[in-house]
Amino acid sequence: MVIRMAYSELYWQKEEVMPKKELEELQLKRLRWVVRHAYENVAHYRRKLKEAGVHPDDIKKREDIAKIPFTTKKDFAENYPFGLFAVPKEEIVRLHTSSGTTGKPKVVGYTANDLENWINLVARCLYMVGVRKHDIFQNMANYAFFTGGLGIHDGAERIGAMVIPAGVGNTERQVRCMADFGTTAIHSTPSYALHVKEVAEELGVDDKLSLRIGCFGAEPWSENTRKRLEDAFNIKAFDSYGLSEMNGPGVAFECEEQHGLHIWADHYFIEIIDPQTGEPLSEGEKGELVLTPLTKEALPVLRYRTGDITYIMDDECSCGRTHPKIHRILGRSDDMIIVRGINVFPSQIEHVLMQIPEVGDHFQVVITRNGTLDEITVRVEVRDELFTGELFDLQRLQQKVQRELQKELGLRTNVELVEKGTIERSKGKAKRVLDLREEL
Ligand code: ADP
Ligand code: ZN
Repeated sequence: MVIRMAYSELYWQKEEVMPKKELEELQLKRLRWVVRHAYENVAHYRRKLKEAGVHPDDIKKREDIAKIPFTTKKDFAENYPFGLFAVPKEEIVRLHTSSGTTGKPKVVGYTANDLENWINLVARCLYMVGVRKHDIFQNMANYAFFTGGLGIHDGAERIGAMVIPAGVGNTERQVRCMADFGTTAIHSTPSYALHVKEVAEELGVDDKLSLRIGCFGAEPWSENTRKRLEDAFNIKAFDSYGLSEMNGPGVAFECEEQHGLHIWADHYFIEIIDPQTGEPLSEGEKGELVLTPLTKEALPVLRYRTGDITYIMDDECSCGRTHPKIHRILGRSDDMIIVRGINVFPSQIEHVLMQIPEVGDHFQVVITRNGTLDEITVRVEVRDELFTGELFDLQRLQQKVQRELQKELGLRTNVELVEKGTIERSKGKAKRVLDLREEL
């Protein structure tokens, strides 16, 4: 086990503060390498590039990336399981799969070099938010196929923190570990963290914890959820973004500023496109994130349409890192609900609910069809005190929630207030939406 010394007190690797121009030159050099690597070693890419009339030699400047056809989730499905691998199987030292939130899980493989790069990227992120050798890091993520388990584990271990591979579930034990071992940093999905918070409160240990840092990712969450988690655990909470097709976590992460996620341009070529036309968008314009990993040996992916909606934020960050920042993910295009012609992301609903103090931490969105009309019902847990209070208060709260949702979504919703504990708790990614329309 190698424990590296950090580049300086401030950064894990010197690449984090590489001058922009050098970073762009490095991107071009690596882009040319990866296009050739894919062309020479993956039949699928060779065919697609030939069909598009593009040869690796045609990639001469960064803008030439636009000549390359997109890769989609469908390409993964069609080449399941190993069809997109670019190295012989004996070079692969690890397999993971995506969570399968939408469709068949994608299989991803890593060479020893890929793992080394990935571990350092995750370490870079964790170091950036202040995780150090003296930390006790409890990783409350699924350790099986999910990349957030071993991926985050290895990164924290590389920094030299004491890592507790807690996994998911048995939440009472998780909380006791936190209290008994003096855990200082945690990682989980934000929805699971909300459940852990609930159990910590029930056990009465919420004010006996030594936590400082929380890293939450793998699903969308809102600024208001951040506030709740920060208050409940007395931590600073950071957004972690990644996807299995791009290694896993470690693609983009918030820094101390908590204002946008640095996305690591030395390992990923970043584009934002109009999801309808595929045309590139410029800084500040909202669209779909398209990523090309620049160093992956086992599984090169050219211009991958992530389905995640975000935008590139203004340059310059007080932390000194030169890599661009993306806004927290606004939603995934395949998560978008269309109700009566209006686009709704569950994260918008979350944003509204979490700013209403009487509303609990858990909710569910149910969509039904009544004749030809779509109905959207938001089931919301309310705090215990309210259920023992006046009926009048409940009615007032219901109307308030309805009004706030209407303001944000431009859509009338039914709001159903339910008792705490009614909605199923998630251990990994929360299933917020129950779409019953197809079944009618
Ligand atoms: P799946 O696509 O099956 O859920 P993954 O486990 O690889 O499989 O998850 C990657 C996806 O999770 C991303 O494409 C994105 O939609 C979502 N995701 C990951 N991190 C975040 C985050 N911090 N905020 C919002 N969404 C996220
Ligand atoms: Zn920064």
